[in-house]
Amino acid sequence: MTETLPRLLLRLSETGDPAILWGRQAAPHAGRDFERLLDHGVLVEQAPATEWDVCPACDCGLDARPIHQVNGRHIALCPTDRRSDLVLGDDDLRSFRIHPSALVREIAMASGFGGEPAPVAAGIWHLGETSAQRALFLALSRDAVPQPGMIGLMRSVARSSPISVIAPAMAADDWARLVDAGLHVVAGSHCIACDGTAPGFSIDQSKLEPQPSLAPRLVIQRAAKTVSLDGTPKTLSDQEFQLLVLLAEHALKSPAIVENRAIEAHIWGASIHRISSQVREPVRALRNALARGSADATSVRALIENRRNPNGYRLAIEPNEIAITD
Ligand SMILES: [Zn+2]
Repeated sequence: MTETLPRLLLRLSETGDPAILWGRQAAPHAGRDFERLLDHGVLVEQAPATEWDVCPACDCGLDARPIHQVNGRHIALCPTDRRSDLVLGDDDLRSFRIHPSALVREIAMASGFGGEPAPVAAGIWHLGETSAQRALFLALSRDAVPQPGMIGLMRSVARSSPISVIAPAMAADDWARLVDAGLHVVAGSHCIACDGTAPGFSIDQSKLEPQPSLAPRLVIQRAAKTVSLDGTPKTLSDQEFQLLVLLAEHALKSPAIVENRAIEAHIWGASIHRISSQVREPVRALRNALARGSADATSVRALIENRRNPNGYRLAIEPNEIAITD
């Protein structure tokens, strides 16, 4: 187990409410700390699952696969490849909803902030003052801080104190806007539940300073139509390139999911009506093109992730690891 329970809950919360912790993810963390989170309402157990996500890089086109009971076992069937059938254990059917304000309360308590964290806007809380007299805000979801008017709102709450914001990784231009406004932005992964120095859910206040930026994994040059992934140049057709740019642009903002009909409109034009299953072909082609020449083709294919509710696709690369230039 490499990821602690606090880090896991923070990561799952980045996509916004509702964030779900699955039983299989939870199982290695069973114990007293887990029970405490149930007691504190940070985790709320849900009804057992009746359907399962499709395989990460499947071309079946299903929104979800039903869970069948076969000889007393629960099985999520893949319609295209029997080897992808999943036998599910009891843990798999369990799930817990992560309650955002209870999670923030847990972090504030563990970090010694007295009083109830005050919600400032959807997904963002004021925790209080740091030991260096900075007003400290905490955002759980990726889309919380880039909300319009958020900088002004935080300033009015902070009054004249300087501001520090702990937030998930965000698009480079959103990050730059906060820094330009004089805010101190720190990635949550950099200062909360850091192994050793910040045990449990506590914030390591010594780390409330900007994180050096990461080298981008995906570099796209629009005019030159070149793409490189993890330092390897990729050869894409025009259609594959267009689709990748569309997904990458969405991955830089929120929501990162591009719905099937938006992909259709982008590739074939809004005037042409097609059934959504036809999006599968260009997605498959893009997956193949990106995987060509990669040591781990399976995980590269899975970077174009099947999503549902809404149905579409998401580029599973962090915003600060994507660079698009003109
Ligand atoms: Zn499948």
